[in-house]
Amino acid sequence: MNQEVRLRFAPSPTGYLHIGGARTAIYNWLYARKTGGKLILRIEDTDAERSTEESIQGILDGLRWLGVTWDEGPYFQSQFGEEHRAAARKLLESGKAYKCFCTREELEKKREIAREQKLDFSYDGTCRKLSPAEVEAKEAAGLPYTIRLKVPEGDGAVVFEDLVYGRIEKKYADIEDFVICRSNGQPLYLLSNAVDDARDRISHVIRGQDGLANTPKQILIYQALGLPVPRFAHMSLTLDPKRAKISKRSHGELVAVHFYREHGFLPWALVNFLVLLGWSNPDSREFFSRDELIEAFDLGGIKRANSIFNVQKNDPKFITDPKAISMNAHYLREMPVEELEPYVVAELKKAGIWQPEFAAERRDWFLKTIDLIRSRYHFLTDFATLGRPYFADDFGIEEKALKKNLLKYPDLKEWLPLLADRFAALEDFSAAETERVIREVIEELDVKAGVIINGMRTAVTGQLKGAGMFEILEILGRQRVVDRLRRVVQFFT
Ligand code: GLU
Repeated sequence: MNQEVRLRFAPSPTGYLHIGGARTAIYNWLYARKTGGKLILRIEDTDAERSTEESIQGILDGLRWLGVTWDEGPYFQSQFGEEHRAAARKLLESGKAYKCFCTREELEKKREIAREQKLDFSYDGTCRKLSPAEVEAKEAAGLPYTIRLKVPEGDGAVVFEDLVYGRIEKKYADIEDFVICRSNGQPLYLLSNAVDDARDRISHVIRGQDGLANTPKQILIYQALGLPVPRFAHMSLTLDPKRAKISKRSHGELVAVHFYREHGFLPWALVNFLVLLGWSNPDSREFFSRDELIEAFDLGGIKRANSIFNVQKNDPKFITDPKAISMNAHYLREMPVEELEPYVVAELKKAGIWQPEFAAERRDWFLKTIDLIRSRYHFLTDFATLGRPYFADDFGIEEKALKKNLLKYPDLKEWLPLLADRFAALEDFSAAETERVIREVIEELDVKAGVIINGMRTAVTGQLKGAGMFEILEILGRQRVVDRLRRVVQFFT
């Protein structure tokens, strides 16, 4: 029988979408797309105190931005409380679970004794042995109770084949009769999560390694309820360079998906980077289009070893993992310029330097400009900062460039305006023509080419480095170049 592949991403909305969660979502999404299966989004919001509307919105926005599309949902776990309680009742009725009247104090005392004997505490099954009459009497007396699952007795074990970690075996003897419902009637997360996966007919649970410890207990729940057990694939952890688990608490915004969005990452560059953080392919390929990645992805390539996310805390040179940055730069450089265009438009709008003509009569120029300047950029935000001189006339001059390329050579205050006059007289203001004129002037004045060219670069772009000078001149156009070259006089007074 061919079982339908159904996956889920089941975040708890207690904070922002972080890169670990995003990676889990992406793996589920890729596997769903690869197999023609379905991806279900389930918001696990049963912790009413910690779940927030803002977090839900952040998760949805983050997934949409990454391009992780889901086929069903979002479902909200909190809406299925009655179903979770019914499952607990069913387990009681079928004798697979029992009511436990042990009080917190009694349990604490037993835990204390175990501690003294340096033993791990596990519930001793006191209430499992109660007779029906005893249970009835306690209930009649109004004593509160939790519900515990009856873990099978004997030498057996829960055995499953994790698709990443392989065969896992946990002896029944090592699993206590664990609580599935609190004394206030609230089902425990372990139960809700399993009941939801069964209702949503999840075939593969792909989740973080922190779920691995819960899996044997959840399998016992499925078995006790007579439900099919899904397959499991647990993903290794993402650690920081000091091998500490990355977390909101210790890394703050640096691990939030929205941080990457705000700092000028292309969503696909982040997806590509995150996929490789924990998954390897036989060809060690680095760059994938969406279709190529869907084709290449397989659960077998998920690494068991933890991966290192090189968060660059407190390093102004790198805002994040240098590999993520170079991945972004790669896509900025290589992607079709028309696909990059809307992102650049958004950046220019944010910076207040967008002009409608860039999308109309000057669109060809706009695309050519993007293509010229992008080769050195790392972030989308660079288009509005480093790119500003191409789209606006009020741009700053880099301090270092001013000193090194202009002020160091006072004669430039005559040479550059002289060049401006020659440019003004040119018939054709093309890269080739401006180059010819510049070479001519360099010869006439008998100066080093570098002095003129670097001085000119700083005069027209305010920068120390950039793309090829002659292409820059052509892109900026005669009027801007002439004006900017004449304007340098002001720096020397
Ligand atoms: N809501 C859980 C979490 O965010 C999901 C666990 C699971 O995928 O089963 O950690």
